[in-house]
Amino acid sequence: MSDVKVRIDGREVTAHEGMTILEAARLVDIEIPTLCHSPDLIPSGNCRVCVVEIEGARTLAGACHTPAADGMVIQTRSPKVLTSRRATVELLMAGHTGECVTDVHTDQCDLRKLADHLEGGAPRFLMRKPRWYPIEEANPYVRRDMSKCILCRKCIGACQEIAKKNVYGIAYRGFASKVVVDFDDPLTTEVCRDCGICIDYCPTGALSKPAKRGGVQ
Ligand code: SF4
Repeated sequence: MSDVKVRIDGREVTAHEGMTILEAARLVDIEIPTLCHSPDLIPSGNCRVCVVEIEGARTLAGACHTPAADGMVIQTRSPKVLTSRRATVELLMAGHTGECVTDVHTDQCDLRKLADHLEGGAPRFLMRKPRWYPIEEANPYVRRDMSKCILCRKCIGACQEIAKKNVYGIAYRGFASKVVVDFDDPLTTEVCRDCGICIDYCPTGALSKPAKRGGVQ
């Protein structure tokens, strides 16, 4: 395997051929934020939070799925990158329904932490009809609050690639898109057992462990 040399935020980085820009940046502790990415899962590039600027490229590139190529000059925090990243996070936040501040699952939310980190302030965007779904608590292993889902698809990847199951899929189109079970059926114990892997990978409070019957979680 040969090496490729790139320049990231002014630093020379030697990466292995086939590494993504995200992996190359992490070699030298340059942190590029992600939401839909996990090193354990096939990159999907869904959320666009990890965009970077590549000298000479017309558009911003997703660092999690773009291979580092020899001679690339990359900026991870240029004004263009930060403007795009903040707008992406604001749109994701605006698509949420419900009050995050009083929700006990908020501390699990990487989106919320990222919004705080980027200091974008209150979202400028107001969805005419934010996505809202009732909370599903019938399954004893997974509580689903799909109003908080950002459609990153990590639960689908974790279920398929790690648990080797196929419980989740995407249904509907555009803004109505939703992570569903079968034909948008309830998550029953017949299709989902107790592995809980989807909870570990969900970057928001959309999937969580249910409170124990009778009280405290
Ligand atoms: S439920 Fe969680 S992991 Fe699944 S798509 Fe929504 S935010 Fe991502």
